[in-house]
Amino acid sequence: MKKLPKVERHIHFEGSLFSLTGKRKVNSFSKFLEVFKEICFKIKSEKDFLFLGDEFFSYLKDENIVYAEFFLSLPVWMKFGFDIFKILENINLSGEKYTNFLKYGIVIDGVRQFHPAYMYKLVFNMEKFKELNVVGFGMGGNENCCNLDRFYDFFQIARRKGFLINVHIGEVVRGRKAFYDLFLVRPDRVGHLLDVNLFNDFIVENNVVVDFLISSNLKTGVVEKGETHPSLYVGEYVNFLINSDDPAIFNTTLTREYEIYLDEGGDPVKLAKNLMREIKNISAFSEDKKRNYLKEIVTFFNLE
Ligand SMILES: [Zn+2]
Repeated sequence: MKKLPKVERHIHFEGSLFSLTGKRKVNSFSKFLEVFKEICFKIKSEKDFLFLGDEFFSYLKDENIVYAEFFLSLPVWMKFGFDIFKILENINLSGEKYTNFLKYGIVIDGVRQFHPAYMYKLVFNMEKFKELNVVGFGMGGNENCCNLDRFYDFFQIARRKGFLINVHIGEVVRGRKAFYDLFLVRPDRVGHLLDVNLFNDFIVENNVVVDFLISSNLKTGVVEKGETHPSLYVGEYVNFLINSDDPAIFNTTLTREYEIYLDEGGDPVKLAKNLMREIKNISAFSEDKKRNYLKEIVTFFNLE
């Protein structure tokens, strides 16, 4: 499974730093936030992002992830008083060494429980962000704190400027309550959305892609032991992708997530088709490259 060319579109840079993540056991969402915070406190300056970037990209390469869109929690680093442009520059300097193996885009991830001003400040630098491989904006953090009302204008502006919108919804808040944020923001991609079947029509009509994060949901306990993960019964017309969220915190890899999906009875054809749909839509790949990856996937899953 490791050899299969993969796409990762819901992974957090800070949550993928194995060297900074101790063996803390995560058994709730609040514990997860605590561990995430602990990791951030271990990063001392913008310079650290050079070697951390190297660690991150070498993990992606090792997993044969050929395209990654990863979240970077810039509001956290703004709070720390770091120069966010230096951080982005350093990550890109590390990334440059891996361009023969993989392409990537950065998604600036907001934190719901922070003051909205952190996100609105970013509006003035959107053009500059594009030059630094930023392709989208997202929102993570604690859904229980608030809905996305206060970020509505921010996402409207980001979309108008050509950025992808990829938000965490239905990770902590379950049931129809999640519809409010989904309907309000109308994201291109949504992470988690555990009660996905309630929103089937909306998702299909609006072409929203659902990013599933199996280990993450099991370890935070939002999907209980014995409860079937929604990735296993998602409606047939819903486009989805299996991702890893925070592999260092949840002690997993993307390869492992694919294996879990299949071990639990997930459909290999669905998995392959969704992966192929992603590959076809990645503008950073030449037609030749796409053809080669698609061929590899077809062979791997014996689809011929
Ligand atoms: Zn996430």
